[in-house]
Amino acid sequence: MIVVLHPSADAAAAREIGSIARKAGLRSVPDDPAKPRRLALVGAAPDPGGALAAELEQRPDVAAVIRDEGPAPLASRHFRPEPAPVMVGPTSIGGGGPPVLAAGPCAVESRDQLLAVAHAAARAGASLLRGGAFKPRTSPYAFQGLGPEALRLLAEARRETGLPIVTEVLAPEQVELVAETADMLQIGARNMQNFALLAAAGAAGRPVMVKRGMHATLDEWLLAAEYLLASGAPGVVLCERGLRHFDSRTRNILDLAGALAVRELSHLPVIIDPSHATGRRDLVTPLALAGLAAGLDGVIVEVHPEPDAALSDGPQSLDLDALAAMADGIRGIGARLAAPASAVVTPGIQGWISSR
Ligand code: PEP
Ligand code: MN
Repeated sequence: MIVVLHPSADAAAAREIGSIARKAGLRSVPDDPAKPRRLALVGAAPDPGGALAAELEQRPDVAAVIRDEGPAPLASRHFRPEPAPVMVGPTSIGGGGPPVLAAGPCAVESRDQLLAVAHAAARAGASLLRGGAFKPRTSPYAFQGLGPEALRLLAEARRETGLPIVTEVLAPEQVELVAETADMLQIGARNMQNFALLAAAGAAGRPVMVKRGMHATLDEWLLAAEYLLASGAPGVVLCERGLRHFDSRTRNILDLAGALAVRELSHLPVIIDPSHATGRRDLVTPLALAGLAAGLDGVIVEVHPEPDAALSDGPQSLDLDALAAMADGIRGIGARLAAPASAVVTPGIQGWISSR
């Protein structure tokens, strides 16, 4: 249930309601710990007979109690009625702000490869650098990523470009290591329902991007976000990356309608990944533009200096020129990309880099 506090309610009222909730076996989560306006009372079997909701409704410091908050209260608009931004280093995603472009290689393969892409991404106006250090590969014989060495290279690319890093974590025992370098952790499509991983990633103190499973419903996706939020994630970004389908001409099918629908249900930023959605570099830019024209909060794309030589996902990777052309296309539809949208590392960003 969600408790909407009366505008005059103070922090003491929120604490009192929290202790009533605890006695009922629930946890009270404030929307804003400094000045709570709404409290989500979460836990197993919240208020079976409705007695607690009825009791809270009688309080003068409570304006309303929402009983039909859906399966994922913390991720829902009932808890935060407006889109809320997620901060990743100096980059703000969502919250009604300008869209973000995240770009980078599927997998970090070498220093030269990563730095070439990172500089091209910064020049194109990207505000996040992606790059897999640990790769979830269908075949055990495929390139699995450079692991810790890739994390060192990502940190170097951040120092050079000022771009915050998003990189995937595959297992709970990797979370601590990956979170040392990542500014945002990535949960891949295949792991969207790896609940132990979600709980560990949510507790790592970093924002998390959770990709939609390739056969996940919107509610299942939101529940993955709920796991992260319930475990304390300071922010969650939803990423639609295409669903399994019956045609072999495209790798997946981008559920743009689903991405838009989930934004109606949730305050979380929603971005799309047209690289994995299509598997085809010729379709990446048109789909990216479609997502941004529809008002989504950003796109994440794979880029490689020599896509045909890539160790993973080459067919869907843009080369450096195609990335620049995509950025021009984005400006062409009138979308202004989120800062830092320049290849120049400003003093503010320099300060942030040194703090990492
Ligand atoms: C990736 O981003 O490289 C990746 C493996 O994505 P997904 O989990 O969407 O397949
Ligand atoms: Mn990939």
